[in-house]
Amino acid sequence: TLLSVNTPTEELRRVDAAHHMHPFTNNSELEDKGARIITRAEGCWLSDSEGNRILDAMAGLWCVNIGYGREELSQAAARQMSDLPYYNTFFQTSHVPAIALSAKLAELAPGDLNHVFFAGSGSEANDTNLRMVRTYWQAKGQPERNVIIGRWNGYHGSTVGAMSLGGMKGMHAQGGIVDGIEHIDQPNWWLEGGDMSPEEFGLERARQLEEKILELGPDKVAAFIAEPVQGAGGVIVAPDSYWPEIQRIVDKYGILLIADEVICGFGRTGNWFATETLGLRPHIMTIAKGLSSGYQPIGGSIVCDEVAEVIGGVEFNHGYTYSGHPVACAVALENLRLLEEEKVIERVRDETAPYLKQKFEALVDHPLVGEAKIVGMMGSIALTPNKETRAVFAAEAGTVGFICRERCFSNNLIMRHVYDRMIISPPLVISKEEIDILIERARQSLDETH
Ligand code: PLP
Repeated sequence: TLLSVNTPTEELRRVDAAHHMHPFTNNSELEDKGARIITRAEGCWLSDSEGNRILDAMAGLWCVNIGYGREELSQAAARQMSDLPYYNTFFQTSHVPAIALSAKLAELAPGDLNHVFFAGSGSEANDTNLRMVRTYWQAKGQPERNVIIGRWNGYHGSTVGAMSLGGMKGMHAQGGIVDGIEHIDQPNWWLEGGDMSPEEFGLERARQLEEKILELGPDKVAAFIAEPVQGAGGVIVAPDSYWPEIQRIVDKYGILLIADEVICGFGRTGNWFATETLGLRPHIMTIAKGLSSGYQPIGGSIVCDEVAEVIGGVEFNHGYTYSGHPVACAVALENLRLLEEEKVIERVRDETAPYLKQKFEALVDHPLVGEAKIVGMMGSIALTPNKETRAVFAAEAGTVGFICRERCFSNNLIMRHVYDRMIISPPLVISKEEIDILIERARQSLDETH
């Protein structure tokens, strides 16, 4: 039988559990409970197969920056599918959507980040980066400079290369990682700051990069990769002292800085890119998600003049069938046009993000909430049994967060949990009225968490 949105939910759940392997999910749990089946979406609101309206405070997976249901984007896709549904950008061919999108990205990106290598996703783009920075140093006659340093609890994707650059130990344990990748600790003051002030701790964590470079030998290190604000690790906002010190160290040893802007890019922190919010000067930025607001799968690496020139001097044996896919590029271009013409990012920066910050930070008066951190439209709260000692619910880490997420779910609010941090990353078009609903439902869900 043909399944449709009109098929009874129980049947959809049964078939889903029987045949669909869900990412990052213990699939056996779906056999009893079944997945929630999302059928439509508009603005910041999802509808499910049981007729609920759900406020999506995660913008899907941090990606639907422009909000759901924009006809302009489906029309851009339809037009491009009729004109040229596919052609590749390999072997000295090109097409208008890829040309136009790379020029637009060069215009939007800061400094001399003027060149784009397209991929189908953020993970693929980070695999490109891994190979590109090693190829860069080879081409410069320094092939021994091949170690890349990432951070524990960082997330750069799920392909083998991207997963290795990331520091998710549970992922590393399932199959091992690529050689020549090292990790330093994350700047998570709440969890790991001990008696230090946040500023002391930020410096201490940044200096781990210098220690690691000296331990490996400065002539062995190719690059450092990090998310400007760690997303999947729990929206960890580094203390203010952290990034200037990282930038100083990167400059001092002449290693490449890769800013993974997959979540932070395209307005999430109140500027086009978080490197602007934090004053960083990366050589490469990873992009995906908000580039197309998730309407089409697309990612890429925006590369500075010097690295592009060196890579351009060799044949870089790398590329994906869908690098610069014309439909994805056309949709991304239209998405950027909407973000720009409707001044979505300016409104986030000047109006809705300050409003959200005030409401979100006020959640610390809840008995379960230890700290609330937010930059632009990405934030997290730490759940704790003791605010003074910054204790965690250690024995069952993650359980309380899981319960809170379930309460949100039943209150028709999508928030995610990472261990015992609750995180939000709503569509950038969220209104003040919707922010009020978000906070009200979050508070109610916290009240019901015990
Ligand atoms: N980099 C960061 C910072 C991410 O948050 C993600 C996904 O969440 C990725 C890379 C991987 O992107 P994708 O899932 O499109 O492969």
